[in-house]
Amino acid sequence: MKVFVTGGAGYIGSISAETLLDAGHEVVVFDNLERGHAEAVDPRAEFVKGDLRDRVGILAAMKAARPDAVMHFAAYALVGESMVSPELYWGNNVVGGLNLAEAMLKLGVDKIVFSSTCATYGMPRRIPMTEDHPQAPANPYGISKLMFENVLIWNEALRGMKPVFLRYFNAAGATGKYGEDHDPESHLIPIVLQTAIGHRKNVVIHGDDYDTPDGTCIRDYVHISDLAQAHLLAIEKGVTGGFNLGNGEGYSVKEVLQAAREVTGREIPAAVGPRRPGDPDRLVACSTKAKEKLGWKPARAELKTIIESAWLWHQAHPRGYSG
Ligand code: UDP
Repeated sequence: MKVFVTGGAGYIGSISAETLLDAGHEVVVFDNLERGHAEAVDPRAEFVKGDLRDRVGILAAMKAARPDAVMHFAAYALVGESMVSPELYWGNNVVGGLNLAEAMLKLGVDKIVFSSTCATYGMPRRIPMTEDHPQAPANPYGISKLMFENVLIWNEALRGMKPVFLRYFNAAGATGKYGEDHDPESHLIPIVLQTAIGHRKNVVIHGDDYDTPDGTCIRDYVHISDLAQAHLLAIEKGVTGGFNLGNGEGYSVKEVLQAAREVTGREIPAAVGPRRPGDPDRLVACSTKAKEKLGWKPARAELKTIIESAWLWHQAHPRGYSG
């Protein structure tokens, strides 16, 4: 298949493109390189520099590529930023998504795998979270992703599209070639490893007074290659709808720190700071549906395996892609 990968220079997009190429598919990466990295574009892929907010440009790029399917990763993905600048999220994630969907409908491309998030559920009402958990996002980022899920649901009902939404829990880890490099970095595992390398003085734990055994927030970390495999399955199988992707196992911030100390053999100092607004105490996925309907088999579910792969990448790229 020929797959048009928006955001293929970003963290999850680059590794999904790599996985598609390894499986023998053709890939066209469409990315504006605003937050992605040219070095993260797999050299086996065709690269088109473009922005989803350019309605004419995305139609022209897709027309030239003539893909069989789309994987849509290009988006802004910072909860805190979305609370300060929601317009960025409506513009890129919603309007950009609409332009992409319009180009697909015009060109008769019906299959799309959309990079969605557990943030579409909002504050958890039950753990582990299944796909029928109420969707009540607590920030513009989650709303922007849910809005585009809804666009795709109606495009399936009324226009014959075949959408899959993959709702990730906490993506982490790296492959030999590609890893996580955000500027600024806000995610726990890269921050912990940047501290292990010595680029940060200490990790700030965002609150230790949550309703969890050690007081720090619990998250479900899932290896980026396992996520990428789910995208491949979603493209290859004739299914539609939403699927949670997580390991069903939650780890606290302190447990992540401890695991990283064991993996790296470094001290990794940490200090407790205030809570980060909007953080739920626990987010843990039930991914039974993905296992049953997609045949998803996560192969790197161990937290230490996930951290080890990220540690290798961070050591090879101590300053990220740009060096
Ligand atoms: N976290 C932390 N210190 C940091 C970064 C993150 O304590 O420097 C916590 C954060 O508050 C959350 C967990 O680690 O409870 C995972 O955060 P991350 O940003 O990686 O993912 P999120 O769950 O927000 O998508």
